Amino acid sequence: MPIDFTNLPKTELHMHLEGSIPVEALFELVKKHNRLDEAPTIEHVRKRYEFDDFAHFLEVYKWTVSFLKTPDDYEYVAYEVAKTLVRQNVWFAEIMVGLGNSVKYGGHDAAQIVRAAWRGFKAAEVQHGIKIRVQIAAGRDHGAQFSLDRLKDIEPLLDEVDICAFNMGGSEHVHPLPQFAEVFKRAHEMGLRVSVHAGEVSGPQDIYDALDLNPQRIGHGIRAALDPTLMDELKRRDVALEVCPVSNECTGAVKRLADHPLPRLLAHGVPVTLSSDDPAMFHTSVTREYEVAHEVLGVGMKSLIRIAREGFKRAFMDEGLRREMLGRFDRETRKWCHTRQIEYPV
Ligand SMILES: [Zn+2]
Repeated sequence: MPIDFTNLPKTELHMHLEGSIPVEALFELVKKHNRLDEAPTIEHVRKRYEFDDFAHFLEVYKWTVSFLKTPDDYEYVAYEVAKTLVRQNVWFAEIMVGLGNSVKYGGHDAAQIVRAAWRGFKAAEVQHGIKIRVQIAAGRDHGAQFSLDRLKDIEPLLDEVDICAFNMGGSEHVHPLPQFAEVFKRAHEMGLRVSVHAGEVSGPQDIYDALDLNPQRIGHGIRAALDPTLMDELKRRDVALEVCPVSNECTGAVKRLADHPLPRLLAHGVPVTLSSDDPAMFHTSVTREYEVAHEVLGVGMKSLIRIAREGFKRAFMDEGLRREMLGRFDRETRKWCHTRQIEYPV
């Protein structure tokens, strides 16, 4: 019988707010902003979340972001997204708030929307106990100066909002990471931790370039599996990869889910965590990622429990909270394993 991972205690460390808005919540915004002509029913919204290729995906992404018109909308979706994690027994999440499309095309003030998302996350913590931190995300496509400006925008918020990290996504082939060295230097100076999308679709060099920026983690990084020396380097530097298998299939980063390099990365001992990236758009969830790893990629139960624990070890949280969460993880997961007759591997 397939294992249900819903109740396994988990983290979610690679998730974009804008790509995680549940269909029901997005439909509420469609009604609120009087755009029923574009999606008259919830089924129409669901259909919009289906796309043919990567270009179409980006189009759908923009369409979704176009409904985030006010800070209240950000607060609302932040809370709704948090609820989807609560239902999966996610105890700690880092959610990226994208400042690319929202500031450049949406005309938003970066600090205002980050503050609004934070209100939504805090409300979820009060109601449901989940701990959520904000990652600031910008795209390579907007250029280095754009990111430097956004870091400046959010600097006054650092005492008020728990911004745990700076992250960068975007077109790997078009904008190599060395041109963003100044941005990452600034993020480190501001006391932010760093994760960066790299080696998702382009080759190992992009991951070597990412390592030059001193990240604590790398988003995707799956092309490292092509280069044993690079995998050794990730181990030596103790940099974990945030692996999102379903996303990789949806965007075409891997041709067939069954060929995903996660098992190769694990076999080499590269530290990895599992995440859902844009779960609403990719019709996935962090729970589903564990199922896929187990059922499609053949990752064993012991490895999956170690990966879940790794999430708590790699999360950008303070050490006191980490100790508490790891202790609780060990107690509860031991029970979870016991009822399923699985030996607790830690
Ligand atoms: Zn991502």
